[in-house]
Amino acid sequence: MDSICPIGSRCATQISALLTPPSPFQLQEYYHNLLSARQCSGITVKQEGNFGKGLYADMDFKEGELVLKDPMFVGVQHTLNKIDCLVCSFCFRFIGSIELQIGRRLYMQQLKANDSDGCNVGNSSKHCHDMDSSDEDKSSQQCTSDSSKTKVPLPEAVVESLMNGQLVLPFSEKFSLPPAVPCPGGCREAYYCSMSCAEADWDSSHSLLCTGESSDPAHREALLKFIKHANETNDIFLLAAKAISSTILRYHKLKAASFEEQLKHNTSCDSNNSNLYFLLEAWKPIWMGHKRRWWDCIALPDDVDPSDEASFRLQIKELAFESLQLLKTAIFDRECEPFFSLEIYGHIIGMFELNNLDLVVASPVEDYFLYIDDLTYPNKEEVEKITQPILDALGENYSIYCEALLKLVLCLYCLNASNLEVKGTAFFPLQSCLNHSCCPNAKAFKRDEDKDGQATIIAQRSICKGEEITISYVDEDLPFEERQASLADYGFRCRCPKCIEEEP
Ligand SMILES: [Zn+2]
Ligand SMILES: [Zn+2]
Ligand SMILES: [Zn+2]
Repeated sequence: MDSICPIGSRCATQISALLTPPSPFQLQEYYHNLLSARQCSGITVKQEGNFGKGLYADMDFKEGELVLKDPMFVGVQHTLNKIDCLVCSFCFRFIGSIELQIGRRLYMQQLKANDSDGCNVGNSSKHCHDMDSSDEDKSSQQCTSDSSKTKVPLPEAVVESLMNGQLVLPFSEKFSLPPAVPCPGGCREAYYCSMSCAEADWDSSHSLLCTGESSDPAHREALLKFIKHANETNDIFLLAAKAISSTILRYHKLKAASFEEQLKHNTSCDSNNSNLYFLLEAWKPIWMGHKRRWWDCIALPDDVDPSDEASFRLQIKELAFESLQLLKTAIFDRECEPFFSLEIYGHIIGMFELNNLDLVVASPVEDYFLYIDDLTYPNKEEVEKITQPILDALGENYSIYCEALLKLVLCLYCLNASNLEVKGTAFFPLQSCLNHSCCPNAKAFKRDEDKDGQATIIAQRSICKGEEITISYVDEDLPFEERQASLADYGFRCRCPKCIEEEP
């Protein structure tokens, strides 16, 4: 490792401090502060012996009751999904209008249809790259989730008037969305639901990752190279870049605040020690979750022969190093050098690999069409004269997608899933403390009112004060052996009551 990453040996002491697991006391303190900052009552995070940390009920919950809403630490929308859904880059709410959402989607769809090579545009799918591409038909089906043959395109002028707001659809005012605020850095990549989301994103990470005109051309070019590489290989790198950027920015904020304090009180402290102190403080959200290096913990894909495991892991490590070099060229920060070592990069991505949750936000466009479908005669006939051609243009599979939505909530990287909802990957600090059980007492579930990117956990049955809160990482209705095989990807063998009972 040291032979390929010089930072690894140069910053060995700092790196080993960053990778020393937090003590039970540090862990307790961090989560206590997090829970009180969120005004989250009713739950606590505890470390129980060798079992790692878990989330516990601090009060009784009734079946169906909200246990936790957890804002994400970092999240990204899958690149392909950006074509289908325009959402706030910070809170992931849908923005613009029903007309803009539909118009933009039809516009992109027509661009894709005109571009025979559309499958390679911003491909974020593991499937398209890692699977055997000799079967051309199969891979192209996966990339264009519904064939353009089944669609009846609308005239370009209609698509344009949907996008520019000239065409207003009946009853769309019932589904009004916040207007899209473009990124103040001018990148035309990030849009927000409000100025406050734009500012919060800028402060937390986007100021380092914006590719707008106002940034330095060399920086912009390097960033674009990094993003292209992530899109072509694995968009988990985009998540890692956000995490590193936010850590760097937090480091500088903590340091500036402390400097101000020192000026006020006319004190000073040893800069070498304090540098490490600020690095550790800034690193805390990742530190609390970090587990193993990506290349050690990533599950071996089905199409890789177990005898090739060592070379597969080496390839993954080299891929991470490639990505890290590109990121380093773009946003390197001397004071935060340890964060640019392969060891730390590997741990950050490993944490996301093991702890990410699909980011799913249901589409208001779907709600809109369901509303139209529920109208009665004669209203419905009139309205459908306008909306039916739009549905035809969106494709005949549209209605199937609407029904399939709920089942698809846990399908990561699945391109065959509905492309009407937002899809992405995110890390949630509290949700990631939830342990697995095949007979869980809670589940991740988006209620009608949950329209943003927060993780929502609901009690699946009544939970008593003091009980550990669990969710199922896999389909708990699968047979014993299949559950254990899926859970092996998370690096453990399940010993829940159901598994103990069913073990042969
Ligand atoms: Zn927002
Ligand atoms: Zn920007
Ligand atoms: Zn189990």
